[in-house]
Amino acid sequence: MRTCDSIALAQGVGTARKALLERLSIHSFGDMILNLPVRFIDRRTVTPISNLKVGTDAVVSGRIVSLARNRRGRGPVISAILSDDSGGIVLSFFRGGYPASGLKEGLNVTACGTVQSYRGFSMVHPDLYFNSQVSDAASSPGMLPVYRLTSGLTQGFMRRLARTVLDSVKEELPEVLPVSTLREYGFSSRWAAVKSAHLPSSPEEASAARDLLALEELYLYRSVLESVRSAGTSTSGTVLSGVSVAGFESGMPWKLTAAQRRVCSEISADISSGPPMRRLLQGDVGSGKTVVAAFGCISAVTSGYTACVLAPTEVLAYQHLESMKKFCEPFGIKVHILTGGTPVSARKTLAGELKKEPAAVLVGTHAVLENWVPLHRLAFLVVDEQHRFGVNQREKLLDRVKPRPHALIMSATPIPRTLAMTFYGDLDLSVLDEMPSGRGKTETAVVGPSEKNDVFRFMVERLKNGERAFLVYPLKEASEKTDLRDAATAYSVICSGPAAEFGAGLLHGSMSPGEKVDVTRRFSSGEISVLVSTTVIEVGIDVPEATVMIVVNAERFGLSQLHQLRGRVGRGARDAWCFLVPGDNPSAEALERLNVLASTADGFKVAGKDLLFRGPGQVLGTAQHGIPEFRIADLTCDGALIEKVNTMQPIELVEMTRLIKSQMWRYADLVLPGLPSGT
Ligand code: ADP
Ligand code: MG
Repeated sequence: MRTCDSIALAQGVGTARKALLERLSIHSFGDMILNLPVRFIDRRTVTPISNLKVGTDAVVSGRIVSLARNRRGRGPVISAILSDDSGGIVLSFFRGGYPASGLKEGLNVTACGTVQSYRGFSMVHPDLYFNSQVSDAASSPGMLPVYRLTSGLTQGFMRRLARTVLDSVKEELPEVLPVSTLREYGFSSRWAAVKSAHLPSSPEEASAARDLLALEELYLYRSVLESVRSAGTSTSGTVLSGVSVAGFESGMPWKLTAAQRRVCSEISADISSGPPMRRLLQGDVGSGKTVVAAFGCISAVTSGYTACVLAPTEVLAYQHLESMKKFCEPFGIKVHILTGGTPVSARKTLAGELKKEPAAVLVGTHAVLENWVPLHRLAFLVVDEQHRFGVNQREKLLDRVKPRPHALIMSATPIPRTLAMTFYGDLDLSVLDEMPSGRGKTETAVVGPSEKNDVFRFMVERLKNGERAFLVYPLKEASEKTDLRDAATAYSVICSGPAAEFGAGLLHGSMSPGEKVDVTRRFSSGEISVLVSTTVIEVGIDVPEATVMIVVNAERFGLSQLHQLRGRVGRGARDAWCFLVPGDNPSAEALERLNVLASTADGFKVAGKDLLFRGPGQVLGTAQHGIPEFRIADLTCDGALIEKVNTMQPIELVEMTRLIKSQMWRYADLVLPGLPSGT
């Protein structure tokens, strides 16, 4: 059998069981192979009967000294007494639970089961092994696998199926990892590792096999990304040498940070020769990523091409429009905007203008991806906060334009380098690890229950000083079932309290994009000084006068999210404050998490802690990133394997294609060049 063959072809699997197995995502032989046991019952040690403890799972070995059949009435149908040197135990079998092969007086057997107390010790329906067969490793009690089940499937069935599948793929199992790696873990072939993962002879062997298969999974994923990358860079890109870093800097309102200068040079080197750039720009909130993006855009436009900046939300798109105008207009460059809210007439005008004069910057949301948008001269693409765009969406746009545009992906979720290498393995990495100087400092405090009023009084003081404040709530509507305070209620309280004279606005998820943009604009212009909001301000609002942020029910946010939030204050020269107000009776763990923020301003450190508390799946939002749910690898505890994968030579495209075609494994959201999605 091949790994891609349907599990229905396995012995003992009919239509009904096939459907049940599918509930466990087991469709093929390969799926069953990768469906590792969740744990093992260790049956290697035989316990003398006199030492048994009721309630434990035990293995006993001895001779059947008596056998009674009960043909009538209730009670066990067969009761056997098994004796060893130390004592005896009753083995009971009720109707339907007869041992498969005959039990006879005088036979030597080993029985495994839970010890109960019935006429001394007893076991009901123990697993039996006839000692004459014990020399055959497969039939001796050793490490007993325990599989994930769904109702209708039994452990016994799953164990038999695992054996059947293992036996039948033995000849056909393609190798994935290099032999040297297999050897390092103590295996001679992939099949040997798979076998040990299901039917190990010791816990150590099981764990080595599991680690090896987790490594294999990460290795395959990394190899797919590498293939995506090589497909993306196999052609040559458009040469963009419109502006030098120094020339760009002279047009900026301030000096670039050394980090910005370095990253601009990296981009400049990429786009002025060779294959299309594919670069991930990581930088903490406020590190000045937009400026770096502007450098690339200006290079493209002054070379006669279109540059495009994709933002995840309408609010952020307008924010970028303002920044891009500020940075690009000194170079005589036009900046257009296109969002879902752009009216038809404006779309027509835009299409006309871009056709006539493609050398311009287009800022927008998903709307930019629509086919009518004239992007035939697109040479530089910026994707901000990329987690809202899937890998495939990005690749589709890049594929549409010939030659392939240069791409700069910006992310403010600072993830450790090893993770970045594995999960953005298709991208080169640039890091902005320096904040622009001349910033005030931001102090973060976790607010105790008695201090809440002080915090609001403090806010009013800052407002009197001409500064602005954010008030952030986790949810828009209070639900009767939860203790969440409602942003809308808070807004009306503010509007009637001492802060009222400074003007307040409400920003929440269910407002129309136009309303959001409007209230954001009033806040940036100073028409209103308090913005009561749900998390929608998380990405990108840039208002230098904002110095106070109060986050209510702060423990409901993730650490990285809170870090993003507080990055909205302290963006000017003035000092800023971020107050984290926990809900009533916060847990010790919640307070510990919040205190991480109070103790460090470093986004990488925060992300590191967040990864510890919540795991990378949550922090990165695996689904949105297009990072698959791994079957075996666990991003939370497989850091060492991830590091190892990064040192390995990825599988080549041809080989990769062959492996995927045999459907050895499936990742929903990854497209390998030349293959349909979902294979
Ligand atoms: P982020 O990395 O969070 O997107 P931005 O690009 O929005 O950061 O920049 C944050 C703020 O810092 C903006 O107001 C921007 O104008 C300002 N800024 C960026 N670079 C510099 C610099 N080199 N010197 C001074 N201010 C800068
Ligand atoms: Mg930004």
